[in-house]
Order: sequence, then structure tokens, then C-alpha cells
Amino acid sequence: MDLGLSEEQEAVRRLAEDFVAREVTPYAVEWDRAENVDRAIVRKLGAVGFLGLTIPEEYGGSGGDHLSYCLVTEELGRGDSSVRGIVSVSLGLVAKTVASFGSEEQKRTWLPRLASGDAVGCFGLTEPGTGSDAGNLATRAVRDGDAFVINGSKMFITNGTWADVVLLFARTTDAPGHRGVSAFLVPADTPGLTRRAIHGKLGLRGQATAELVLEDVRVPADAMIGPEGKGFSLAMSALAKGRMSVAAGCVGIAQAALDAAVRYAGEREQFGKPIASYQLVQELISDIAVDVDAARLLTWRVADLIDRGQEFATAASKAKLYASEAAVRAANNALQVFGGYGYIDEYPVGKLLRDARVMTLYEGTSQIQKLIIGRALTGVSAF
Ligand code: FAD
Repeated sequence: MDLGLSEEQEAVRRLAEDFVAREVTPYAVEWDRAENVDRAIVRKLGAVGFLGLTIPEEYGGSGGDHLSYCLVTEELGRGDSSVRGIVSVSLGLVAKTVASFGSEEQKRTWLPRLASGDAVGCFGLTEPGTGSDAGNLATRAVRDGDAFVINGSKMFITNGTWADVVLLFARTTDAPGHRGVSAFLVPADTPGLTRRAIHGKLGLRGQATAELVLEDVRVPADAMIGPEGKGFSLAMSALAKGRMSVAAGCVGIAQAALDAAVRYAGEREQFGKPIASYQLVQELISDIAVDVDAARLLTWRVADLIDRGQEFATAASKAKLYASEAAVRAANNALQVFGGYGYIDEYPVGKLLRDARVMTLYEGTSQIQKLIIGRALTGVSAF
């Protein structure tokens, strides 16, 4: 594996770094306090090609490999995890699933709009009663002539109030567990679909997280994506690649924590000297630096496996597990370097810690990642 970036990848990384410095970082604290990212960012992300990465150009995408996607995701996560999440879901979970499993018509309908930022996608898997055990979801889609009628509810849906299309998972047969689940592309303005914004989150405050309620939502039969009864494997396939994207966002958080800690330690003086000159402060900084490198290498490894067409799901779980725990550790260590100033939001590290915390929870908690890795190693499912 060549660990250096190609000229093209380096150009994409620089483009993302400039974009974030101009369009994201200056507003991140304001959006966090207001609990609202400016929605205009979506079209800007689309215009620069970040919402179309890895999507074929014939469907309006900007192409590129998965390492480039990781580099962009890392830079976005470095600037603001709320913005990073918009891309990880609308592109990473929704557009990429349409590109892999959609019919020609579904691709032509949704991919150009998602890639340009004209439309936003959300991923509706979790329900109030089923989180880790997502395959046991209760939302039902019942066949009625050439349509399906859907009833149920979805919880904690990223981009929920912004979305134009919901990649929705619902039970279509009485087959037990995940075998009865199918996937649908549901336009968010379909009658019967209502959304309630969830406020008061510890982190990712700028992000439009919502509960979705579906009451007799009627969609044509061709809204189904992938074969009937295969919806759960489609969700798992989306989440495996999604975990790489979350891991890359975590690398961005950890890198931002490192940058901030090094800068502050050089400026802040106590006992007549910069705190950077104290060994215990250097220990905090070096611990962050090792976490950044280890998390980045595990994440790039996943991108490399995908780009080579090799099996990557277990590697993605390892990267997501490690990078999310590392991001929390890194942000916490950086906060320690900042002392009391780290605890107020005029300084960046408190937000990094709050934003990092959810990474160990969503797209499979750390415990669930360990069960996936354990199953791959032992051949025994402990779920
Ligand atoms: P539970 O599954 O109830 O877990 C509670 C605890 O039990 C955890 O510690 C868990 O690790 C542990 N546990 C559960 N089962 C086991 C087991 N077998 N062995 C060991 N420990 C176990 N979902 C979507 O579908 N789309 C989204 O866009 C989305 N965005 C989100 C955004 C935010 C901000 C948040 C907070 C969540 C989001 N989620 C989304 C939901 C997220 O994926 C779930 O919260 C997550 O899967 C955990 O489910 P749960 O919260 O129901 O916790």
C-alpha cells in the first residue's frame, strides 16, 4: 500500500481544507449555539463536488476514489462535525446506496439532485424501540395494488427535517427478524409523513436530527429499492461504508484537537514558562498525536480495500471503533491542555468533545462493533 497521496488526492484534500476554512470553521460555533447549520451550505458542498464523490459522472457525480472521499470527510470533520454528518448521510448512506442498488430510473431521479445539493437524503433505520437490534424494526409496508402503505416511526434521523428523500426500512413480510425487511425511497413531502425536530443534543447541535412518523404513507411499488426482503442487507452494506466515513470524521476531530492543543500549549504561560515546556502537557499532546495517526491509518486501510474491490466490512468496524474512541480521548486530552478555558465555547475543544461523543454510539455502538469483529474472528455470532 502506498501511504503517500497522489497529486489528484492531494488537490482534493487542499480543496477541502480551503473550503472548510472559508465556509465552515468561521461559522461552526455560531451554528452550534443556534442549533442550526445554515442550509445554504448544502448547495455549496454540492457545487464544489463533495456531495457527488465516488458517484459516477453520468449520474451527476464527481467520481473519485474512496481515499479522496475520506480526505474530504476528514477536513469537514475538522471544521464542524454537524456539516460532516450532512455529507456522510446524504452522500455516504443514501446516494451511494442508490448508486449501488437503485434501478436506472431511481438513479436518474435522485443521484443528480443529491450530488448537486438540490436535494438532501436521510437514512431511516432506527426506531424508538429498535436501535442496536435494527433488524427487528416494527415499521410496516403493506402491499395495496400497485402501491405500498407504510405505517410506523423512525428515531434520531440525521438530516431528518431537511431531507427531500428518505431511504426508509420497513417490514413487508412476516418473515422473522431482518428477513422481512425491505427498503424504499420515500419523497419527504409524501402525505402522511411528519417530522419532529429533536433538540437538546449533547453535540452535533447544528444538525437537523428528527423523529419521523409515518401514517398511511402511500408510495408506488417501484419506490422499493433492491429486492423485497433484502432491505436489511442493503442497510448493512450502506453502514459498512458509512463506518469508514464516520471514522474519517473522527480523524478530523482528533486532528483539530491536536492542532488546538499544540497552539494553546505554546501560547499559555504558567510558572513563568509556556505550558508546552512541561512533560505532563507533552504527554497529553503526544497521546493525541498517536491516536490521530493510528485512527487515520486504520481509516485509509478501509478506503484502500474498497478501492481494490476487496472485503472491507470488518476493517470498517475496526476503524470506526478505534477512531471514535480515539476522537473522544483526543478531544478530552485537548480540553485538559486548555484547562478552564477548554470548558467554555469561545475555545474550540469543548465542542470537539461534545461532537465526538456520539461517534461511539451511532452507525453501531462500540459494543456492537466489537461483536461484529468478534463474529468475524470466531465465526460465532454473540448478538
Ligand atoms: P440501544 O441499542 O438501546 O443500546 C443501549 C446500550 O446497550 C448501548 O451501550 C449498546 O452498546 C448496548 N447494547 C445493545 N445491544 C447489545 C448487545 N447485544 N451486546 C452488548 N451491548 C449491547 N439512526 C438512523 O437510522 N439514521 C440516522 O441518521 C441516525 N442518526 C443519528 C444521529 C444521532 C445524533 C444519534 C444519537 C443517533 C442516530 N441514529 C440514527 C441512531 C443510532 O444509530 C442509534 O442510537 C444506535 O444504533 C444505538 O441504538 P439505541 O440508541 O437504541 O441504543
